Order: sequence, then structure tokens, then C-alpha cells
Amino acid sequence: MQTGNIGVTTENIFPVIKKFLYSDHEIFLREIVSNAVDATQKLKTLAGKGDFKGEMGELKVSVSFDKEAGTITVSDRGIGMTADEIERYINQIAFSGANDFLDKYKEDANAIIGHFGLGFYSSFMVSNKVEIITKSYKDEPAQHWTCDGSPSYSLEAADKADRGTDIIMHIDDDCKDFLDKNKLEDLLNKYCKFLPVPVVFGKKQEWKDGKYEDTDEDNVINSIEPLWTKKPADLKDEDYKEFYRKLYPMHDEPLFWIHLNVDYPFNLTGILYFPKIKNNLDVQRNKIQLYCNQVFVTDNVENIVPDFLMLLHGVIDSPDIPLNVSRSYLQSDQNVKKISQYITKKVSDRLNRIFKTDRPDFEQKWDDIKIFIHYGMLSQEDYYDKAKNYFLLKDCDDKHFTLEEYQTLIKDQQTNKDGQLVYLYATDKESQYTYIQSAKDMSYSVLLLDGQLDTPLVSMLERKLEKSTFTRVDADTLDRLIQKEDTKREVLEAERGDNLSAIFRSQMPKTDKTEYHVEAQALGENALPIMITQSEYMRRMKEMSRIQQGMSFYGEMPDMYTLVLNTDAPLIKAVLEDSEKATEGDLKPIVSEIKGLTARQAVLRQEQDKKKPEEITDADKEDLKKCGEDIKVQQDKKNEILSAYGKGNDRVHQLIDLALLQNGMLKGEALTNFIKRSVSLIK
Ligand code: ADP
Repeated sequence: MQTGNIGVTTENIFPVIKKFLYSDHEIFLREIVSNAVDATQKLKTLAGKGDFKGEMGELKVSVSFDKEAGTITVSDRGIGMTADEIERYINQIAFSGANDFLDKYKEDANAIIGHFGLGFYSSFMVSNKVEIITKSYKDEPAQHWTCDGSPSYSLEAADKADRGTDIIMHIDDDCKDFLDKNKLEDLLNKYCKFLPVPVVFGKKQEWKDGKYEDTDEDNVINSIEPLWTKKPADLKDEDYKEFYRKLYPMHDEPLFWIHLNVDYPFNLTGILYFPKIKNNLDVQRNKIQLYCNQVFVTDNVENIVPDFLMLLHGVIDSPDIPLNVSRSYLQSDQNVKKISQYITKKVSDRLNRIFKTDRPDFEQKWDDIKIFIHYGMLSQEDYYDKAKNYFLLKDCDDKHFTLEEYQTLIKDQQTNKDGQLVYLYATDKESQYTYIQSAKDMSYSVLLLDGQLDTPLVSMLERKLEKSTFTRVDADTLDRLIQKEDTKREVLEAERGDNLSAIFRSQMPKTDKTEYHVEAQALGENALPIMITQSEYMRRMKEMSRIQQGMSFYGEMPDMYTLVLNTDAPLIKAVLEDSEKATEGDLKPIVSEIKGLTARQAVLRQEQDKKKPEEITDADKEDLKKCGEDIKVQQDKKNEILSAYGKGNDRVHQLIDLALLQNGMLKGEALTNFIKRSVSLIK
């Protein structure tokens, strides 16, 4: 029997393995099983080349456990190891600059394992003793290697007749939970589901006499030829759908998929699916599984797949992605960058092809796929140029246009006097119905932008497209949304308009976080007497603040609306005239008082402006201040009179409520009052 020390320069590697790798210790199973698979594959290769001429037997990897003995065993019928090979591959671990490295990558178990080729030694994360019983395919005696977690090992001849290797792990007390059928089966399913050699875990069971019993059939946990390893030409749609169902049993059918297959300048295969996305984007992330030669590595593919495609589902398999390095390293790796670019290109090509060859199908899918395209255009500069060709806009009648088509469509009608092309849009066909309709009456086209990312998208398009603005149909009165040469309409005298506005302003509901501005405008006889608009800018800023960090300032701002009174509408004219009649007597003395005070204020200001600051006496200052206060008192009086008029006026209330109602803003008590008032008006 031979004993010796494992060639590690660090005093004792095992405590290190245990300590640093603890959080990820379940991967020991992946490492040991994939070693067994590798050994099996190597045998097949040797046989293929004629270097191995013996009986291959049934090439499978078996995983078993013995709860009483406290062991997990992984057995294969691969090439095995000679005593010399154990010495070279197991005992001599390349281990230089270990301490530095461990310091650097404390957090990252994969980094340590990969860097040192410690795959096999990861078994010590869960074991206090590991045995290797192995017989090489070469005609040499079988070997029995034992190590109890100290740097010393023993090696002796064993009487194993079959070719292959058994790895027997004596599980630590604090890792006993691995000695469990369900636990092991879960892990095998997670890491080994697509390994290229059958991995057997016990026997298939069947329900018999009121309990589950083993059958004679092996319980193979993997499918050795997963779909992505096959040729696309040999596959049918149903095959892809079935594979998708296997990967994501809880999901709807995918929209379509892309089979990736590159061998230069890097190796990569895989299948990416466009899923149907319901609502919450974040929940949908991290659904792509990364494999390395069919061994599951991670479902965190950040940095490998471009951010916007993280919403896709599926698998990527590449031996060329440096799997065992830290994430920050991955980001700067040239190969990884190329992979990311390649995936973007493939996805874009595919979308372009569907668009070109089957536009109706593309349009039909548009609402489901636009989220990916929007996200890509927003997050990746170079993707915008690619997507431009198949990026679609949809109008309120469900017609689709490319950007170019749409520009041609609206060019004549919707260019304003400054030469800006104005894209009108709605975000909700129902609630903005009236506004959409009035725009259409003017022969304008209205887009429907109801996607989750439309707000930032619109801002981006405004930056990219020249002389273009997007504005929601209810952002202003139509005249002002697309300003043509100035329309000549009779504008109300300022004083009269102000009074009218004051009447309505005084009767607006007092709602939390909502502010109303009231404005009298001449909109033409045919336009509605009253409407509510919401400034495009503020609304957009508020929406952006919801999706973007650092904009909470806008989020805190109240919603600001403008109530527009159409002074050309007969009804508003009637309210105006009636109000003037009713308040004339009371307002007259106040108005003349204000006039007098305002004149005096102007004189005082002028006088003071002529003096140097030090010449202005306190009495002068007091005079001016007093004058201002007096004006304020009179104005308040005036407003009180106008408010009293508004309060008792059903028409004013009815008009305001109708405007609110039209925007779905009439609620609660105000709605009840409206209904009561309406009923009494019918009587
Ligand atoms: P890696 O697999 O990255 O080379 P490991 O520490 O996992 O590192 O394994 C070291 C070496 O030990 C392998 O390269 C292989 O030569 C040998 N080995 C490990 N497991 C087996 C096995 N089941 N059968 C044959 N050889 C094995």
C-alpha cells in the first residue's frame, strides 16, 4: 500500500474547500457526474479510433445512495484510471498562488473550482472521506484510493473486475440532507438533465398494492440528445413546442423560436424561444439556461445574452464561454462580447425574415413581440438600426405601418407650421375615445401606444427622428396639438375670460394630488363646449418616473389638468352672459376699486423705481405693500362673488362633471351628485 501527501502547496486545502464553497456545495454532484460522463465519452472516442477494442458493455452512469452507510456513489463504465494516472490527475493538483486567488474569489465557488480543476475535490464539500475504486481500460490492476479530508491519501490495489470508476462519498454529518431520494433526484434534474450519457438513478417505480414499487427498468433522468444538439432541418414545429413544454411546463405556447448553431469563431448551440409575456417583466427574466457541453451551469446568463434578450426563454450551450470565472471578468471577455453580438444578430435576422416573408403573421404577433423589440431599441444602440426595418406602429384601427410608411401617411396632414411632423397617439382606445374621434374628424391618424415601454420609446423616437414630436390626443386642444397657420377666431376680452375661468375654477373638485388649471379658449362653434387636457410633458415625466430611477421628483408632483372652456360654444356663451348679468351689480364697485388701486400701485412703483434704494423710506415701502394687499382683498371679494354664482349654477356643475366624466375622472361623491343633479334636470 502506498501513502502520500496530495501535492497542494497550501497547508490544507480541504478546510478551504468547505469554507469557501459552502454556499454552492450542491454542485459536487454535477462535478462528479460530469467526470463520469467525460470518462465514458473518452472511452467511446477511443473505441471510435480503434484504440479500444474490448467489449464496451452498457455505457451508463449510475448514481446511488445508502442512507445507513451514509454514502453517495457515482459509478461509470468509462476509461478508468491506472495508479499512475491517479498520481497525475488526482494527487498532483496544480495549485499555485492559492491564497491570493482565494482572497479574490471568495464569493464565487465556480471560479475556484474551475481555476484549479478542483472538480473532483468538490466532493469534499460534502464528504469527510472519499474513495475511488477504479480499473483502467488498459490492462492494469484496479486501484483503491482513499482520502479522509486531510492532505494525505492512501492508494492500494483493489479487486475490481469491471472497467470503470466508482466514486464513493462518505457524507458529512452536516450534509446528511443529501442522502435523500428527492433531494438527489432534484439535483440530477437540475444539473444533469441533458447529459450525453444515460444517467441512472435507481429504478422506475410503479403503483402496486397501495404503494410504489421498483420495476426492473432503469430510472434514466436525462435525455441524451436534447433538441438543440439536433439538426434544425430534422425537426418539426411540434418538436420545438414539446421541448419548450418540457423546459417550462407552466407556460403558454411560445410565439416562435430560433435555433442557434455556430462553430466559428466560437462554438455555440441552443434554442431561444420568444415567450408570451404577461405583465411583470422582472419575473420573466433568467429563464434562459446556460449549458456547457450539455452540463447545466446556470440560469443567470447576464452578460452573455444581451440584456433585452434576457426576456427570452430557452437554452444556450457553449464550451467557449468561460464558465468558471467571475462575472466582472465575463463582461470584458471578447469571446463573450462576440457571442452577445451574434445572438442579437440572429434574433434580428429572424424577426426580419418573418416580417419580410410573412408580414400578416408578423403583424398578428406584433403585440406580443413588441416588448422585446422596444426593449432592445431602448437598451442597445446598435439594435435600433437593425430593428428600424421591422419596427411597427399600430393605429387605433389596428392597421400596422413601418416608420417610413407612417411618415408618408401623415406627412401632408400632420405637419405643423414649424415643419414638425406631429405623431398623435392614444394610450387607451376606450377612455380617450372622444379625443381620438375628434382627431379623426380632422383626417388625422392616431396611433395606439399602449405597450409597457411606449413612453420611453416615444422619447427615444423623438430624439432619433428629425423634426418629429409625439403627443397624446388629449394633451391639448386639436388646434394647438398641430398648429397650422394661425386660425383667426374671435378671442374673448381678457377680463371676461378671466371671470368665466374663475367661476369654473371655484367649482372644480378638490382632489388630492390633482390640480386643475382653467382656461377660456375660442375653439370654434362645432367643438365641444368643455374638455380636459393634460400636458404631454408633465404626463410623460410622471410616467417615466415610474419606470426610471432618479426621477421620483416628478412622481411626487400632482397630476395637472387643464379645463378648457370653448368660448365659441353657444352653451359657454350663454353661461358667460348669464353670469355677467347676475354678477354685474355686485362686481361693478369692486372692479372700479381694483382699477383705482392698480393705477395707484403703478404710480407708486414708478416713483420708487426712480429713487436709489437708500432713498426709499419705510413709509414708501409700506404704501406699496398696503396697496398690494388692498388689491388682493378686492380680488378675493370678486372671486367670492364669482364662486357664489358658480356654486348655485347647475349648468356650471353639469359642464364640469361632463368633462370629468369624459375622462373617467368623475368618482365617488361627485359622481353621485352628478347623477342626482342629472335626474332632477330631466324632471
Ligand atoms: P477536470 O475534470 O476539470 O480535469 P477533476 O478534478 O474533476 O478536473 O478531475 C481530474 C482528472 O481526474 C480528470 O481530468 C480525469 O483525468 C480524472 N478523473 C476524474 N474522474 C474520473 C472518472 N470518473 N473516470 C476517469 N477519470 C477520472
